[in-house]
Amino acid sequence: MDWWVSMPKVELHAHLNGSIRNSTLLELARDMGEKGTIVFSDFEHVIKKNDRSLREVFKLFDLIHIVTTDHKTITRITKEVVEDFAAENVVYLELRTTPKRNDSIGMSKRSYMEAVVEGLRSVSSSLDINFACDYPEKSSATAEKKIYVRLLLSIDRRESTAAAMETVNLALEMRDMGVIGIDLSGNPTIGEWATFFPALKFAREQGLHITLHCGEVPNPVEIQAMLHFLPGRIGHACCFQDEEWKKLKSSKIPVEICLTSNIQTETISSMDVHHFAELYKAKHPIVLCTDDSGVFSTNLSNEYALAANTFGLGKAELFELAKRAVNFIYAGNRVKMELIEVFESAGRTLEYN
Ligand code: 5GP
Repeated sequence: MDWWVSMPKVELHAHLNGSIRNSTLLELARDMGEKGTIVFSDFEHVIKKNDRSLREVFKLFDLIHIVTTDHKTITRITKEVVEDFAAENVVYLELRTTPKRNDSIGMSKRSYMEAVVEGLRSVSSSLDINFACDYPEKSSATAEKKIYVRLLLSIDRRESTAAAMETVNLALEMRDMGVIGIDLSGNPTIGEWATFFPALKFAREQGLHITLHCGEVPNPVEIQAMLHFLPGRIGHACCFQDEEWKKLKSSKIPVEICLTSNIQTETISSMDVHHFAELYKAKHPIVLCTDDSGVFSTNLSNEYALAANTFGLGKAELFELAKRAVNFIYAGNRVKMELIEVFESAGRTLEYN
């Protein structure tokens, strides 16, 4: 594993609450159990279970949201998630999260996002972080690592058009705090494309980048509509049929591939039939990602090692794949050029045998 950890990596599909440390989740759930807010023993088994179906994953998210949705906890999780990615040499991270409103504790979508930004500001002093052009880069002479972080705001498929539009407007207001785009996610069996389309169209017109969870369940009409929209990237692309593969390949839309997530949620039946192989062979733009490193007990180094072992690829090939991901990031040219330099410098020192 050491080699995959030492290789620089780019993470473009990571959900904040899904990336929570297992130890933090257990600690928070235990605390809430002691306060009588939840019955801890009802949840312990769900948290400790490893192989969850897509349905169980969404049940787990409901639990995670009960224990995490206050400002202090969101700040803590953001800080920990960024530090965990940096510790395994992720040099650029696009972190996505669904802004949440909880009137009972005075949380608005905006104050939720401010808590996230506070988490970015409070990362350990052993880490240089760049997350917004208008904020001075936080750097220290003693820093061992540097990470670029940008934020994507997620629209949950349970939301209405008005709620989706509220998220887009918030993203526009927070552009100077590192927010660069919009994601559409949440339970794929819920909601209609037509509900989100107006907000996504408006977001794009205003210059925000768009990524869509696409094809996690068979739904050819929606998949076609999403591909026709030409998002900057899509996530998963598991349940495509011939017509959709053709359209995807001709469009060259980059695909965020989450191997462990797809297998654990059974959206792909086994690794040997995973579409990574076909897309890689066709030289279609792809990027390996974790999705929910906490929920699926993985990390990005592990996803690269898994791809190497499963698809018979060498270190040099996967290093190239990681480097190519720089082309698909949503940050601007200056960041791209700095990242290329990071990869070139690592490429000169890493040994491939
Ligand atoms: P959050 O947005 O609360 O930071 O991260 C968790 C949320 O991300 C989940 O409630 C869900 O809406 C979304 N999410 C996480 N993993 C997946 C996934 O694999 N597929 C889809 N469609 N949504 C996901």
